[in-house]
Order: sequence, then C-alpha cells, then structure tokens
Amino acid sequence: MNKQTSCFRCKGNMINNMITHVVDHDGSTLIVKNAPCLECEKCGATYFEGPVAKRLEKIIDKLKSINAELVVVKYTATD
Ligand SMILES: [Zn+2]
Repeated sequence: MNKQTSCFRCKGNMINNMITHVVDHDGSTLIVKNAPCLECEKCGATYFEGPVAKRLEKIIDKLKSINAELVVVKYTATD
C-alpha cells in the first residue's frame, strides 16, 4: 500500500493526529469528532487515509438520514 508520508502541499513531515470533521448538508451541520488523520508539521494541511475517508463517508451518509440541525458523533472504525 502506498502510504502518504510527506505533505502534498509543502512536502513537510506528516504526523498522526485527530481532527473534528465538519460537513454542512441541507442546513444541517454534521460533526464527526476524533477522526484520525495525517497532519503536516509545517503547514498544518490534513489528509485522511483511504480507509478513514471511506469510513467517514459512511458515517456522514448515516447522519444525513437523521433530520436534525446539529449532529455530533465520535469517529468509530466499525459499527
Ligand atoms: Zn505541508
């Protein structure tokens, strides 16, 4: 597998971090906390690895079906 180890912007060193992923959808705000990402030490750019990005998409899809103005969940790798 091809792992991203340097920043796509500045080629800085990427470190493991957690961020809060926020999506606006039809006037609703969907928030996934503690999403694991790679973050650039230099410029702060964040990048989700493939499996995490796919998982986030799945979580967000689920949250879209909840008819609420604000939904906040914690990232989980599995259901
Ligand atoms: Zn960078």
